[in-house]
Amino acid sequence: MSEEQRFWSHVRKSTNPDECWEWQGTLRNGYGEFKRHIYAHRYSYQLANGPIPNGMMIDHICFNRRCVNPQHLRLATNSQNMEHLQGAFKNNKSCGIRGVTWAKHANMWKVQVCHNYHRYRGGYFHNLAEAEQAAITLRNKVMQFNDLDRTPISNNN
Ligand SMILES: [Zn+2]
Repeated sequence: MSEEQRFWSHVRKSTNPDECWEWQGTLRNGYGEFKRHIYAHRYSYQLANGPIPNGMMIDHICFNRRCVNPQHLRLATNSQNMEHLQGAFKNNKSCGIRGVTWAKHANMWKVQVCHNYHRYRGGYFHNLAEAEQAAITLRNKVMQFNDLDRTPISNNN
């Protein structure tokens, strides 16, 4: 068996590309571990896309750490992006950020704000941090009473 075959023997694949392919082998910090010190999702990303550039992270778009579906993985450019995803993971499995949802068909984050039975579209974004900012900007534009966005929230309180 080749190394690649051995890798996929640990994965429960789905015929539906939207579904997560969960790692069935060893876990480390909730992530699949293929070989010592090699995360399964990073290995899967490299199989599909080639080497990961130095210092880059691999993000789970689906927030499922065990998932190795290459379509649910993407390069994360900075630590801020990771912080947003971790925050989103804590709040809500689908996204965690108000006004931002994952648009499967577009493979991007969709910004949409509902107010007074009207739906305002904010466009599509590859970057979750940009989508969040767009949602806040859009809310500020369409709503009068959105104090939550305008008031800085301190972590110390
Ligand atoms: Zn997934």
